[in-house]
Amino acid sequence: MRKPGGQTLGYLTALAASFLLATVAGWLGTPIDNYAYDWMFRHQPREPWEPQSALLVADEASLTELGGLLRLRRALAEALERAVAAGPKAVAIDVVLADEGDPADDARLEAALAKMPNLVLSCELLADGRWQLPLERFRRGAALGHVHGDPGPLDGVSRVAPLEKAGSRQRYWALALEAFRLSRGVSQIEESPEELRVGETVIPARRADSRAVRIRYLPPAGEGLSAVPRLTFKQLHDNPALATMFRGKTVFVGVTAQSAARDRLLTPYSHGFYMAGVEIHANLFETLARGRFLVSAPDLAVVGLCLGLAGAGVLIFVLRSGWQAYVLAALLLVAAHVLPYEFFLHDTVFPYFAPVSAAWLATVGAGAFQFVTVRRRLRRAEAERTRYQQAVHFVSHEMRTPLTAIQGSSDLMRRYKLSEEKSREIAERISSESRRLARMIETFLSVERLSAGEMELKQEVFPARELVVNCIERARPLAERKQIRIHTEPLAEAHLTGDRELMEYAVYNLLTNAVKYSPAETQVTVRARCEDGRLRISVEDQGIGMDKDELKKIFRKFYRTRRAEASGEKGTGIGLSIVEQIVAHHGGRIEVTSQPGRGSCFTLVLPAQVASRAGSK
Ligand code: ADP
Repeated sequence: MRKPGGQTLGYLTALAASFLLATVAGWLGTPIDNYAYDWMFRHQPREPWEPQSALLVADEASLTELGGLLRLRRALAEALERAVAAGPKAVAIDVVLADEGDPADDARLEAALAKMPNLVLSCELLADGRWQLPLERFRRGAALGHVHGDPGPLDGVSRVAPLEKAGSRQRYWALALEAFRLSRGVSQIEESPEELRVGETVIPARRADSRAVRIRYLPPAGEGLSAVPRLTFKQLHDNPALATMFRGKTVFVGVTAQSAARDRLLTPYSHGFYMAGVEIHANLFETLARGRFLVSAPDLAVVGLCLGLAGAGVLIFVLRSGWQAYVLAALLLVAAHVLPYEFFLHDTVFPYFAPVSAAWLATVGAGAFQFVTVRRRLRRAEAERTRYQQAVHFVSHEMRTPLTAIQGSSDLMRRYKLSEEKSREIAERISSESRRLARMIETFLSVERLSAGEMELKQEVFPARELVVNCIERARPLAERKQIRIHTEPLAEAHLTGDRELMEYAVYNLLTNAVKYSPAETQVTVRARCEDGRLRISVEDQGIGMDKDELKKIFRKFYRTRRAEASGEKGTGIGLSIVEQIVAHHGGRIEVTSQPGRGSCFTLVLPAQVASRAGSK
């Protein structure tokens, strides 16, 4: 039922275009992907998780109360002294200790740090590529971890963290990773190109991506707050007993006061609230501690998903139509929107925009294509039906004319006693009209059978000149009715091979068309010339003519030009299609030149045996 070729090509083009567009749009779709990622992040089911870290932070109130930034080291030393008493597992300090401060404060801090178990101090890669490290006196025995984040370039949201940072031939692990290693009592982080291993924990962080991992932020306990338990310097100062919450925990120490913390970033949860760096480190630590990582889907899987969705979208419209196709397409679109979320819940992050747009483009493209082709086919079928009806109408009308003549003549003979001469005349008319009828039927049937391959062409050899003259004589009465002069130039003597009846039909059709589509008192010129062993029979008129577009269509069955319809001349639009078939079966072709309002010239070019040179000028 379905026709391959044009239609399949159309669907394939829709598929290729939507896939290409989707891939390109995928690159442009990063902001949408990020938005979707954050949305999925916020709407994932919340799983119970007991944080293994705690925050000890200098907030705005602590700074004001305990002497401002200048006294930060003293306040830090005091807080650490109190915290260590509770027995934390590890302590990571997100405060740069690279320069000398007040000597008394530094000495106190040095002493406090010396008592810390599993201590990690922060270091930073400067713009000039050098590492800024803590002073030697604070560093004794401590591990070092970098404190760099990786905010999204477009929106500044911190979604991933680089676990490794290298510069000046020195490489440091992230502060949270070092804290995690120490909290697990592991001395060495094992590395391979694809992953890191800390004791039992395998971290899927590829070297090629700076060992980046997606941070699985803990859902906020309250607006802007992370669920990692926290204590401020001031709270601890006011109530030292609160330090017990640090028991067995990895403590992240830092500054959250807006006025002092310069490493504040947005997170998928934070809706415009900034999160201080120290909290982000704690969340990264929790991510490592949970050991459940969100991994980006491989490129090939993304391409596969896009192609799959686009292919399914197109296939739906190839295999189904109407409401079935629309329902399936709607289901596919829902699937395209839901799939990235499903994968997300299974810890695989797919881009959102590319697959969704692939599905949309493919379904909309294929749907529109189907709609257009179905409509076009319907319109064509309808037009063909009306033309066919017209044709049947006309053919029966054509046949009725000789039939009426036959009927009328025989009635005359039956009813009246006619003279012998009159009777012979009428009998002759009956005979010629019935022959005409038979010829008409014969021609239609022959051409139908010829084109259906059911009939072999007759192989008679006949003189072309005689055939042309015959046709002119038959057409003359028609021409005379319109005072059209049929002018014949000297006709070449040549013989054609094939079916004489059919060939006569062809030439006669050109002649009657020339007469039909010409105004009164014009001239039709007939020529028959030999050229390169071929006979060229041409019929030229001074009639209504055709434009280029019409010329391309006149050999289609049932096609009539608007000008022909307007001329009031009756026609079926099948004559020329039959002529073309007849000529093709005879190994020839038709050439047409025409200009609207000026006239047309139809030329049959046929293989012929040239009998003499006469007329071949
Ligand atoms: P019909 O004449 O019955 O309509 P044909 O198949 O013979 O069908 O011709 C198809 C159409 O080609 C015509 O309807 C007319 O529009 C156009 N045509 C054919 N011959 C001529 C001509 N000599 N001049 C102008 N238009 C022509």
